[in-house]
This record gives sequence, C-alpha cells and structure tokens, in this order.
Amino acid sequence: MEIRQREVSFPRPVLFLMERLAAGGHEGWAVGGCVRDSLLGRVPHDWDLCTDALPDQMRECFAGLSVIETGLAHGTLTVLVDRVPYEVTTYRVDGAYTDHRRPDGVRFVGRLEEDLARRDFTINAMAARPGRLEDPFGGRQDLAAGRVRCVGEAKLRFEEDGLRILRAMRFAASLNFEVEEATAAAMEQTAPLLEYISRERVFAELCRLLTGPGAAPVLERFPDLLQWVLPEIGPCRGFATFHPTHCRDVWGHTLEALGKSEPDLAVRWALLLHDLAKPGCFVRDEEGVGHCPGHGELGALQAGQILDRLRAPHKLRDQVVFLVRYHDASLPLTEKGIRAWLRKAGEENLRRLLEVKRCDLAAHRPLEPIRRAREDCGRFEALLEQVLAQPPLWNMKDLAISGRELMELGMKPGPDMGRLLQELFDQVEEGTLPNEGQALRRAAADRLNKKKNPDAP
Ligand code: ATP
Ligand code: MG
Repeated sequence: MEIRQREVSFPRPVLFLMERLAAGGHEGWAVGGCVRDSLLGRVPHDWDLCTDALPDQMRECFAGLSVIETGLAHGTLTVLVDRVPYEVTTYRVDGAYTDHRRPDGVRFVGRLEEDLARRDFTINAMAARPGRLEDPFGGRQDLAAGRVRCVGEAKLRFEEDGLRILRAMRFAASLNFEVEEATAAAMEQTAPLLEYISRERVFAELCRLLTGPGAAPVLERFPDLLQWVLPEIGPCRGFATFHPTHCRDVWGHTLEALGKSEPDLAVRWALLLHDLAKPGCFVRDEEGVGHCPGHGELGALQAGQILDRLRAPHKLRDQVVFLVRYHDASLPLTEKGIRAWLRKAGEENLRRLLEVKRCDLAAHRPLEPIRRAREDCGRFEALLEQVLAQPPLWNMKDLAISGRELMELGMKPGPDMGRLLQELFDQVEEGTLPNEGQALRRAAADRLNKKKNPDAP
C-alpha cells in the first residue's frame, strides 16, 4: 500500500512550548501518535512532547503557565495552553516489567534516541520539530508500507507489556495496516500474557480495534489472540451450520458481516457477538438442515455477560444486548408496530438494528428467504421514515386534539370522552388517521354525529 506522506505541521501552542524549552537551553520534540498521524495527513487528537529537561527544569521553563503534575514520577507534566492540555515528558527508559504490564520504575536519560527505543512500534517511535524528523527505526518507511512493526526484538517487547499485543491489533485495524511477520509471530507466541491485562484495558482496545476500517481482516488474521480475551468465540470457529443460505462457518460469517458494517461501536460489537449462541442452540431437522432456534435470546444473554465482564458502560451493553436479541427477529411492518418499537428502543437503536440486519443478511447466500428478509428491511425502513416524518406520538398528550376541543364540539367530560380520545389515538398509531388537528376534529365530529344519529350513513 502506498501512502502519501505529509510534513508535520505544528500547532502554535506546540511551537510555543518548544520555544520555552529552547529558551531554557533544552530540546523539545513532538513525539509518538501526533507525528504518526501528521505524516498520514490526519489531524492528531492530541500532541505529546518529549524533552531532555528534567522535571524540575521543565517546571522552570514553563513558569507562569498552568501546569498539572499528575505524572511527575514518570517525568510527565501536563501544560495547559489556551486550556488545551499538552503532555511533556522527560526522555526516559523503562525499568524491568515484572508484571508484564507496567515498568517497575523509569529512569531519565539524556538522549532522544533512547526514549524512542522504549516505544512500542516503529510508527509510534518518531519525533519531530520544525524542519527535522527523528526516525531511528524506520517508522516512516513502515507508515508508507502500511506496516505495524515492533521497535527492537518483538518477543521481548510483548513480554515486557502484554497490552502491546492488543495495541498492535488495534493500530492494524484503525490504520488498516498489516502486522509485519516477525511481530505477528511474536504476538502469537506471547498470547498467554493477555491474561495480565485488566479487563478495562482489553475493552478499550477492543473498542478501538472494532471501529477501525481494518477490523474484520485483523480479527481474521488473529482469531487465537481474540480468543484469549473472548473465549466465547471458540465454539463458533469452524462450526458448520448445514443451512443452504450459509456460505461458511459461524465465525467466517461473523467476520463477513462485521466487515460490511458502518464503524458504529454498538453495531460492531453486536455483529461480533450476534451468532455466538448458535453452536449451543444447534439442531438438525429430518432433512438434515441445521437450525438454531432461540440463538438471538441466548446470544443476548451471553453478550450481556461478556460486556459486563469487560466492564463496558451500561448504555453500550444495553444497546448491544438489544441488537443481538432482535438481529434475527422479524421486524414489525405496520406503523403501530414501529411506534411500539420506537418507544421501546428509540430511533438510533432501530437504525442500528437495521444496519445489523442488513450486514447479517448480506453475509448470506441470496436465496429466496434472504431476499424476502431484505425486502422486509427495506419496507421497515420506508415505514420508519414515514412514522418519523410525522409529529411524535408517544402518549395521549402528543395527540393533536385535546379534551377541551372535544368539549367545544359539544362533548361532555367523562368516560365517553376518554374512550373517544383512545380510539383516535389508536387510529393515529395504526396510521389510518394523520396526527393533525383538522383531521382529528373532523373524525371526532363524525363520531359524535353517529352517536346522536346512529342511522346516519
Ligand atoms: P492514540 O493516542 O491515537 O491512541 P498514540 O500513539 O498517541 O495513539 P498513546 O497511547 O497516546 O498512543 O501513547 C503515546 C505514545 O506512547 C505512543 O505513540 C507510543 O510511542 C508510546 N506508548 C504508548 N503505550 C505504549 C506501550 N504500551 N508500550 C510502549 N510504548 C507505548
Ligand atoms: Mg495519544
């Protein structure tokens, strides 16, 4: 893959901090993700700097600025410029990693290159300042080749910190890169170290991985690694479903569906988990055709357990559980049914459900039942738009006619009025009456006339 690389263009506050450091006789470099993203022509979401200044010296350089000292033990100061935080860190190397996650301590060093050598991947181990790029490990070349490669001996780097295994997968997915061979082999060898990573970190990395444009190919390349943190995918791998509309095993189908989806977090999680329960629900009929009755329900239960285990936020967990539960259910195809689902799930989740279904169906052989299900999705979407184009109708208060207006038409307050309002509400919900004052008044007047004159046509 040929990627056109750009020059790094530094925001003014970054130049300002570099000038402050220079005024104190020190070097300052932009480093890591911001350099990588700039060279890719992306806008970095934050800028980190590194410097030979020791923490006390940094404090002197930044006198008069707003400084937060949260990471001082590791040599990091956060400086606020125009209320935006910039992390500035003294060149350092990491001590021993006895827990395969965090260094026992750090040691400050005098040379930039030593600091770059402790970083995980070559594409993250570049530093820049105006007119200069420091790239001792070939990061620029790896960026151009679309390659994630460890700095130094890959196996040692993963043994130091198992999180890097997930970071490698995450960068490959989010940048749509390949993982270089020796790095990939070392990831497989050190996979058991994934046990040392906290569930919160696993979840955070998986979220970034899943929403990347290269999520499906990365998961296809490293299913064993995913299985360390998500053992539930194990039974799906290689599981044949003996169904004419299925082209591949459950795991292959999962990846195909995922690969077709928009990069929405809940949609991607749902597609990853949607068929997990298939192996557990599998039965074959007299003709030998496979079915998985109830896999949506059971899968929803499993998805909830997995996301709770990974400490996912409750809102996301609930969204994913909803999507997995109904991914295989038939959609309501009446305005009334759609309103009921809208009340239950909300517009965003219904749109997500459509996306999950669209991708799930697109990963099937397009035989008749699949074609019909696709048509139903189209009809559901059209009806949904129709319902949403009308003023919302959540409860009686939203009805475009009130009790007082009925009184103006000559009706007395009481149970009859309640019944008439309910009747009108039901008709609007069913789509046989528009939720418009004039139409409702006319319908109410007709109803009242009929009551007075039961024989009238
Ligand atoms: P992003 O912010 O988009 O996730 P980033 O590259 O800035 O990407 P950070 O986690 O913010 O990633 O880390 C900043 C830099 O610190 C990285 O670019 C890398 O050089 C280094 N780094 C971060 N985590 C590790 C790690 N676990 N092992 C080695 N180096 C790391
Ligand atoms: Mg960063």
